[in-house]
Amino acid sequence: MSNNDYVLPSRQALDRSRSKLLSLPQQGLRLDRTKQHLQDDIVPGLNRSSQSPNFYGFVTGGATPSATHADNLVTLHDQNVAVHLPTDTIATEVEDAALRMLLDLFRLPEATWKHRILTTGATASNILGMACGREYAIQQIGKRKGLEVSVGEEGLLEACAKAGVENVRILTTVPHSSLVKAASVVGLGRGSVVEVGMSQGRHHFDFQLLEEKLREGAGKTAFIVAVSCAEVNTGFFATSGGDMEKLRDLCDQYGTWLHVDAAFGLQARVLSPDEPTYSAIVDGTRGIELADSITGDAHKLLNVPYDCGIFLSRHLALATQVFQNAGAAYLNTSAADIPSPLNIGIENSRRFRALPVYATLTAHGREGYQDILHRQIDLSRAIANFISQTSGYELLPRIPPSFDKPKEQGLSRIYIVVLFRAIDDSLNRELVQRINATRKIFVSGTQWDGQPAARFAVSNWQVDVERDLELIKTVLTDVLSGSK
Ligand SMILES: *Cc1c(COP(=O)(O)O)cnc(C)c1O
Repeated sequence: MSNNDYVLPSRQALDRSRSKLLSLPQQGLRLDRTKQHLQDDIVPGLNRSSQSPNFYGFVTGGATPSATHADNLVTLHDQNVAVHLPTDTIATEVEDAALRMLLDLFRLPEATWKHRILTTGATASNILGMACGREYAIQQIGKRKGLEVSVGEEGLLEACAKAGVENVRILTTVPHSSLVKAASVVGLGRGSVVEVGMSQGRHHFDFQLLEEKLREGAGKTAFIVAVSCAEVNTGFFATSGGDMEKLRDLCDQYGTWLHVDAAFGLQARVLSPDEPTYSAIVDGTRGIELADSITGDAHKLLNVPYDCGIFLSRHLALATQVFQNAGAAYLNTSAADIPSPLNIGIENSRRFRALPVYATLTAHGREGYQDILHRQIDLSRAIANFISQTSGYELLPRIPPSFDKPKEQGLSRIYIVVLFRAIDDSLNRELVQRINATRKIFVSGTQWDGQPAARFAVSNWQVDVERDLELIKTVLTDVLSGSK
């Protein structure tokens, strides 16, 4: 490692940066002094969550050198990727090429996923998914009564009134907070998100409960089913085996939109389907090609710089009903082999965030990304193994032995997240703080079963299993012995 072997800036560095922040100068400092100020006063106050391989907070990902290089070019050339303008710039075609590479990487047929776009992140992608799902599910109820309605045209209130829709429900298990936020943003409300998980393993759908809800609400409730494809606290997948087929059948039967939040689960599709070591993980993303829409994040496991998310849907016509940037004739283009991004996503003006995706996929290829993910999973499992064998720590969540998903027992359930706690309650309350105070690694805190818990998320491309495991073992051992 370089001499920058810290993960977070020290408190002194932060205080210093804070004290150096300027207010608007009457006369500008000009370029050279401004550069000096940024370098001397701001940069030392930044963390190295992306640059350090030992930042295990959240699921941040790093940035590969090729992606970083491309990102600098993006800034230099400052394209606005809003409208498909094939005679003016290649930018929209690069975005489409990048998206087609992603589809190939994730084994999703490009002819099916025609509504595809890069977003600012998985939160934005979830908003797109909920907006499409809302349009679809309300239209379906109308259709079944012989009525044509459109939320995009008439608005939620009028469309619902016309179609006799009383409410909208998003049925899911252990959703990411951003899905709940998306529900609020698109006017469904946070209260519309309803968990229908099993009592013993709440990540998994209780199919009986799910079907009961769908049946009870039929004709008056518009439903979206949202699948948590790798949940942020545990890395667990909501579905396995034939679950996606079952969800697809139910959604078809009830006119329901099927959305998959695979912010960091999507990356598991790079694994070879017949690799026994990772079969439980492969199983977790089985059948996601049956969804109506999928959320992915490129700034997480794909390791491109912030910000970049992925949204995929199979309903291109529906997309324009929702996102059409209507009444701006000067922005229309004729030959629409590639739809203009402003008509199928949230933004009008957009950053050329496709270039880093294109560059990193070109630089690493399928095998490069398989190798990165193997190292991330292998390190996570080694950490989990160490924790489960160290008497002062406990691996979470506790899975009841009676639970009927054998693949969730043992280390094979571990993807890239390791949730754990210290057995001693007083140490556990300070665990995250003590680990992070070493400044050698960083983990995030969370709550699990009403108790504080700590969490490793292994998401950086630079992971080196042996080197990083040594460091982590030392830190965890020191934190335990320091507490005695
Ligand atoms: C991180 C995450 C999100 C939100 O992603 P952002 O890129 O931060 O907007 C959504 N869903 C899941 C499952 C996530 O892990």
